[in-house]
Amino acid sequence: MGELSDLTLLESAKRLAAGEVSSEELVQACLDRIATVDPKVRAFLRVDAEGALAAAKASHQRRRSGIPPLSPLDGVPIALKDIFCEVGKETTAGSKILEGFIAPYDATVVARLKAAGVPLIGRLNLDEFAMGSSTEHSAFFPTRNPWDLTRSPGGSSGGSSAAVAARMVAGALGTDTGGSIRQPAALCNLVGLKPTWGRVSRYGVIAYASSLDQVGPLSRTVADAAALLQIIAGHDPRDSTSANLEVPSFSASLEDGVKGLRLGVPKEYFVDGMDPEVRAAVEAAIDAYRGMGAEIVDVSLPHTRYALAAYYLIAPAEASSNLARYDGVRFGLRSERAHTLGDLYAHTRAEGFGAEVKRRIMLGTWALSAGYYDAYYLKAQKVRTLVRRDFEEAFRQVDALISPTSPVPAFELGAKAEDPLAMYLLDVLTLPCNLAGLPGVSVPCGFTRGGLPIGLQILGRPWDEAGILRIARAFEREHDFSQRAPVLT
Ligand code: GLN
Repeated sequence: MGELSDLTLLESAKRLAAGEVSSEELVQACLDRIATVDPKVRAFLRVDAEGALAAAKASHQRRRSGIPPLSPLDGVPIALKDIFCEVGKETTAGSKILEGFIAPYDATVVARLKAAGVPLIGRLNLDEFAMGSSTEHSAFFPTRNPWDLTRSPGGSSGGSSAAVAARMVAGALGTDTGGSIRQPAALCNLVGLKPTWGRVSRYGVIAYASSLDQVGPLSRTVADAAALLQIIAGHDPRDSTSANLEVPSFSASLEDGVKGLRLGVPKEYFVDGMDPEVRAAVEAAIDAYRGMGAEIVDVSLPHTRYALAAYYLIAPAEASSNLARYDGVRFGLRSERAHTLGDLYAHTRAEGFGAEVKRRIMLGTWALSAGYYDAYYLKAQKVRTLVRRDFEEAFRQVDALISPTSPVPAFELGAKAEDPLAMYLLDVLTLPCNLAGLPGVSVPCGFTRGGLPIGLQILGRPWDEAGILRIARAFEREHDFSQRAPVLT
């Protein structure tokens, strides 16, 4: 300890404010750590030393000339999943089809981070177009879990979780369509927050399934997640699905505890096949909440068992439509083998997309096609409504729901890569929240005997990010799991 790269976002901010460290030193500490450990972990697709140092220098100069900080994180570097457009920078979404694509504008979240003075230190690996739960579907290389380099860091934001867990950077942004922030956070001992759908602008975020996608932070502490969300949240006239609601303070009530709160435990979330050590850690967490004065209430979300099937129709259906734009004409890759326009589309897509993305496009196109639409897509949408109503019913009785985030801890690389169904089943506890548009957070809640992290998921009412962060913080304050770091030499 004592290294700059061990500091959390808010600890770094405090040192900056006290004049004990400069933003350039913080960025340099990240760059040094990346140089040492990333050859093993492989979280970064690209490191932007020059851009981050320039932003750090500008932050430093502002501070030196007495200009008030642009935000509480002015000068504190973070990194981005490679799915956010940043003007003048390559953005690949983990796909060959976008290799070499230079974004012509900033995503709103990127613009907000820049306006907040946050240096952006590079691009993190992901499953191609965020489709996957292990980061093995990246077109470039798999990322490794810093807690055990033979295992996956989760996905699709696995570069983000691995980079933060390995102390290469103290915070990162990911996206979560069916669990892609919370699951990698759980597998890497981090806090990962998926905001309410509509809380954060999706403008300039490469789309996977638009009715499910949300942007959110991964960090080591709850307070850091709140600080990052504060910067990126809020209405954006460029994304008409971002809510025109006032953004509350996400940190004001963090220390308020859980006394008197009603926490629901959905019985359907303790599924067959769940790892017994995960179950035991989550049950211990439930007891801990009881000890902190929360009332624990058994609840039922009866349509949970249909959620996975509905998700794996809706998400591919939306993906097949969103990915139609990659045609060799406008973005990225253009096949050299084509002689006609039809050939150009076919060859570019055949060469540019990986196997999992092709599978999703085929499934989605099929589910939307005439004759099948009512039987599959429409039916899935009806199930989605039932899943949402289950949550509405539960939230009449309780303030939040608690469950495991992932049914299993980090798994070996290669263990599920060839078995799509086994991979899809990893999302069983995270994706219902996306179907319902709710906020959800994963917070570290223990380790297996083999030393692998376990995550606790807390789901809240729409727009109640502050509530679930407060509940997460109450647990974090009483335990030291978050302080443990993986050993990487
Ligand atoms: N694993 C899920 C999927 O592949 C979720 C991915 C995500 O949240 N982006 O669809």
